[in-house]
Amino acid sequence: CGIVAYVGKKPAYPILIKGLQRLEYRGYDSAGVALINSGTHTYKKMGKVKDLDDFAKDQKVTGNIGIGHTRWATHGEPNDSNAHPHTSMNGKFTLVHNGIIENYAHIKKELINRGYKFQSETDTEVLVNFIESIYMEQKVDAEIAVRAALSKVIGAYGLVISCEDEKEKLIAARKGSPLVIGVGEHEYFLASDASPIIEYTDQVIYLNDEDVAILTQDDLVLKNIQNDKQKPKIQKIELSI
Ligand code: GLU
Repeated sequence: CGIVAYVGKKPAYPILIKGLQRLEYRGYDSAGVALINSGTHTYKKMGKVKDLDDFAKDQKVTGNIGIGHTRWATHGEPNDSNAHPHTSMNGKFTLVHNGIIENYAHIKKELINRGYKFQSETDTEVLVNFIESIYMEQKVDAEIAVRAALSKVIGAYGLVISCEDEKEKLIAARKGSPLVIGVGEHEYFLASDASPIIEYTDQVIYLNDEDVAILTQDDLVLKNIQNDKQKPKIQKIELSI
């Protein structure tokens, strides 16, 4: 339903919580964040963003990179374990996802045959494990594993993904579900619409279908799933807060 993410120099947690609150108008049943620094710390709760914040703010929420989500359940009931972010079985990838992976049942069966275990009923957890299985079996970079997985996925997605071995970066992708990048000074914001971004920057890039963006605090690479480089088109948003 709603996505917000940050990579830069500021503490990510307050940006994520505030951003999720800006997305509340869309409706949702659960909320969660993952903070990425020395380890990845994930907090997720059924209920309101405030319930998540009440629970998480006293935990370890340091880190200048993070991803957050408000979920509107499509596969699996609203509860804490079905809430996003989801982490792959071996802990290599953590992601948030808007949309529906239509061929998840088929992929899930193949992963179970290869020893994968699941903790949720979501289509999203299938995708994060699918990416990890390609990453570990083919020993490729995170971005290559993401593009390989997405080329086999049927459905709609807005995604932000973090890899444990490439912590300084976030990978974002979209198909049929919107994603916007906010361009700051040594920082990038990501969200499913511009409302969490406008208080920080008016420079945005709207991703196109099948775009994949690789973001570090100082660099943005935009390509498509087939690995063709795309030229990022920075636009100015004219919105009042
Ligand atoms: N299909 C995913 C789920 O049920 C994502 C739903 C959403 O867009 O919030 O968890």
